[in-house]
Formats: sequence, C-alpha cells, structure tokens
Amino acid sequence: HYYTVYSLSEGLFFIRNDVTWIGLGVVVREYASLSHLHKQYFGFPGEILMRMLKLVILPLIISSMITGVAALDSEVSGKIGLRAVVYYFSTTIIAVILGIVLVMTIKPGVSQEAEHIDRTGTTPNVTTVDTLLDLVRNMFPENLLQACFQQVSVINITKDYKIVGSYSDGINVLGLIVFCVAFGLVIGKMGERGRILLEFFDALNEATMRLVQIIMCYMPVGILFLIAAKIIEVEDWEIFRKMGLYMVTVLSGLAIHSTICLPLIYFAIVRKNPYTFTLGMAQALVTALMISSSSATLPVTFRCAEENLRIDKRITRFVLPVGATINMDGTALYEAVAAIFIAQLNDYALDVGQIVTISITATVASIGAAGVPNAGLVTMVIVLTAVGLPANDVTLIVAVDWLLDRFRTMINVLGDAYGAGIVQKLSRRELERMDVTSDVDVTNPF
Ligand code: ASP
Repeated sequence: HYYTVYSLSEGLFFIRNDVTWIGLGVVVREYASLSHLHKQYFGFPGEILMRMLKLVILPLIISSMITGVAALDSEVSGKIGLRAVVYYFSTTIIAVILGIVLVMTIKPGVSQEAEHIDRTGTTPNVTTVDTLLDLVRNMFPENLLQACFQQVSVINITKDYKIVGSYSDGINVLGLIVFCVAFGLVIGKMGERGRILLEFFDALNEATMRLVQIIMCYMPVGILFLIAAKIIEVEDWEIFRKMGLYMVTVLSGLAIHSTICLPLIYFAIVRKNPYTFTLGMAQALVTALMISSSSATLPVTFRCAEENLRIDKRITRFVLPVGATINMDGTALYEAVAAIFIAQLNDYALDVGQIVTISITATVASIGAAGVPNAGLVTMVIVLTAVGLPANDVTLIVAVDWLLDRFRTMINVLGDAYGAGIVQKLSRRELERMDVTSDVDVTNPF
C-alpha cells in the first residue's frame, strides 16, 4: 500500500501543466505589452494561493506538534527527535561538502572579474554570534500571541537589484515549535485530564488538513498564474548569461544532492525505491519551486507525505515542521558555493582553514535562515564575514537569487520529506510497541 499509482500520475499531471503555463507566460510576454498594473493583475490568482497557504500554517504547526509529541511518550519522542537531528545535520554537511567540491572544480568565478558585475545597494549587518543568539532568543518567545505575528527581517530586492532590508509580518515558527513540544509533553503526562486537550488538538489538526485538501483543489490554477506572471515580469534575462557558470554550479549541486545523495541514504536505510518517493512528493516540490518558501509549502508537504507516501502521522507531525525551519540542505549547499564563487571573483585565495570555516558557517547560516523567500541571502553575510570577504559582495549574486531560491527551497522540502521517511523506518520498533499499548489512533492519516 506504500506508494500509489495515483501519486505518480498526480506528479506527472502537475509537471505537464506547468510546462504549458511557462509557454503561456512566454507568449504573453512576447506579444502583449502589459503595463505594471496589468502584470500585477495577472499574478493575482497566484497571490491568493500564497495567502491561503500561509493562512493554514499556524493551526497546522500548533496542532501537529502538540498532538505529535503528546501521542508519544517522552522517551520515544526523545529518540525520534535525536534521529531527526542526526539526519538533518549529516545531510546538511553532505550538501555543503558537495557544493564546495563542485565550486572548486568548476571554478565559476575564476574567468570573471568582480568589477564587471555591479555592486549596488547596502547589506544588512549580520554576524554569526548575532544569528545564533537570535536563533536561541526566538526559541523562547516572551509572548505567545506575539510569536504568531512576529516581525521577521527580510531582504527585498528592487528592480535594479538593490538590496533593501525591511520587516514583514511572519510567524516565529521556532518559538512556537519549542512551546508546542513542551506543551505536548506536559499534556502527554497528564493522563485522563490531558486527554480532552489532546482530542481538541487532534480534531483541530484534522480540520486543518481538510482545509488544506480544499486549497489543493485551487492549487493548479494558483500555481500556473504564479509561473506565468513571473515569466512576464523578469526584465533582465541577460544577467543569466553573465552568471551562467555560477548558476550551473549551484543547480548541478542541487540536482546531484536530490537525485543521488538523498536517494542513496534513503535506499541504504529504508530499502525502497527512492524515486517513487520523490514522485510522491511532486506536488510539494512544484509548490516549493513556485513560492520559494519551505514554511508556506508545509501544508502541501504534510499532505504528500501522509496521503501519498503513507508516512506515519506521529513521525510527520514531528519531523516536518522542525525540518521546514532548520533543515535546509539546498540553502547550505548554495551558501557554500556562493561564498567560494565570490572569493574566486575577488581573486581571493582560500586556505584549508577558511574552507572548513565556510562549511561550518554555511551549515549555521542554513539553520538560521527562516523558511521564507530569499532568507538564505541574508544569512549569506555570516559566511562572507567569517572568512574576511566583503559582506557587501552579497549584492553580486542578488540578480539571480529569485531563480536559485526556488530550486534550493525545493531541495529543502525534499530533504525534510526524506527525513520523515528515514526516521519512520528507524523508529518502527518504538512505533509498533506503541501501537500495541495505545488505544488512541493517530496513525490513520484520513
Ligand atoms: N527560501 C528558502 C526556504 O524557504 C530559504 C532560503 O532562502 O534559502 O527554504
């Protein structure tokens, strides 16, 4: 029952449709001269999809984490958590090493000179210590309601590729996760009196997933407009030629990580076909590609993992929300490649110590990056300053970030899903033991 033919055809349907709409974008772009306002109207159905997906993140994270933790006893949840963290960490390191090997072999920055690419804009001030402190600070929100609409710093990229730091209303996902884990553990220990709360959050979870199911019906339309609108909007295709080799390096790294490294690890542990697994996640991957945000893709990630791949709810509820926040293989790989690319542009020779520093800071930077568009670009500054490169040089790669961001987000989401599959396999004994002793049925996804 593990993989269904349905998930395969669903994935192929999505990919085929998207290609059609890229075509539509190109045709409209070529033959219709749209004003700025018209372009905005064209993207409107896509904007509505984004809003709907973001809308369900909050109830989804809260209900899934609390019930996920409460349904496990603390010993089992500790073990599952540990396995997840070991998986997150090791795959991120593998991604970073892969990125470094590729960028040192392809040397995309050696043939070009930094002067030929404009440095514009200002860079936000970010340091490693600040990021780590912020990470821990965010884990302990002082006000739960405030954590639900916390201001997060984001980078905005203007039309002429200037970076402007600004704030947007987001969710302090990490803070909520820490609270929900603690709350779930307490509920789990409360026995009969905790049961009513557990049932409440379980029902909330089911209701939210039903809402997600409704949103999914609108998804093909929303996504198609997102693609077509982006194709119409891009004004400078020339930049892709200039940055070609750099983009090839990042994209081939992401491709190798997602088609070889992750599948190999999955196969070694789970002994099932990893590519059927990837296809089962197709809808979530296309969504991530379109909206560049792991957090906003989370509702779809949940649905694919639970419904198509039949991963145990007790695992997905735990591994997916945490993964969407801290496990970012794509971002880590990208940060390592970008830092070394900038060093090459500047003719700056890196010694072994600096390369090790890049691997460590790229890992920290990927953990610190929020699951929102372009977050990796902000934390990129950490990697650059750690090895003495000018932080302002992050502006050299801004112009192509909107495209690379989509692909790395896709790999971030895929990494989380593989994590859920692998942790499920490693935890099967504990789960089976719980099935025998527990009478609360949380394993049946729908
Ligand atoms: N957009 C990415 C994500 O949501 C983060 C990044 O900018 O690398 O996973």
